[in-house]
Amino acid sequence: MHKKWLCSYSSHRKNSNSKKNQHCEGFIDILIKMVTKGSKKNDAYLKRDPPLNTIIKINLFHKHNCASADALKRLFIDPEVKATFLQYFADGLTPCQAIKQNISRIQTLPNYILTLANGAQNPRPWTVYRLWHKYLTKNYGTIKDPFDRLEEKIPEYLKQGVIVKLNKASPWVVLIVTSLNQRAQKLQSSSEIIFLDSSSSCDVSMASITVILTATKGGAVPIGVLVHMQQTSLAYEKGFKMLKEHFPNCFGGLEYPKIIMTDDSVAEKNAIK
Ligand SMILES: [Zn+2]
Repeated sequence: MHKKWLCSYSSHRKNSNSKKNQHCEGFIDILIKMVTKGSKKNDAYLKRDPPLNTIIKINLFHKHNCASADALKRLFIDPEVKATFLQYFADGLTPCQAIKQNISRIQTLPNYILTLANGAQNPRPWTVYRLWHKYLTKNYGTIKDPFDRLEEKIPEYLKQGVIVKLNKASPWVVLIVTSLNQRAQKLQSSSEIIFLDSSSSCDVSMASITVILTATKGGAVPIGVLVHMQQTSLAYEKGFKMLKEHFPNCFGGLEYPKIIMTDDSVAEKNAIK
């Protein structure tokens, strides 16, 4: 086994103008030799009893200050802290919320001031955002093409009672109907009045989300959710057609509700005509 660890300020795989490229030559090199009859022949150290089979080389002469706050801040993230951040993302926290949560966790530890300055325990925002993008790509696909991952997950969502339908042609539309939404579709109120509420620029995909709601005694309840690429009449029309196609009597058993209330949006109004 042979492994060599370079200082994080070395020039290995770094741009010449990178702040972390200080041409540092600090390293630790560990070589563990196999002890066999063949290897013993030409190696005086392996012939000893017990055999001396390991060579460790260390260069501790760094070309930068190792005792500064800056050096501490730039340490690589600790694997356990990395796992904690991935769990925060899985729990639905944004990078900013995850950083705050991690700082709160550190503040419960003894001597936390030093730990707060340590990049391995309290990673810099840049590190956290990079980790978040990797997490998103792994779990939700790339921003450019998120559908492969979504299509893979459709059967899994179905097991949880969530129906996901998608139309990938531009402008793409995704229809999501949960078991709660299906129950709300059967309500009398769904045949009387439906509200449309759109939000744009959601998440990293910058998609628009339209929630299709009915008014119940307990407040507004969605009968379905549309995620779409644009806020155009065509996108809304495609979404509403998908809802009608898969849930033809979703308005309290009827094909159309008596009243649909939209945002003040020409695109929405045109699409429901
Ligand atoms: Zn160094």
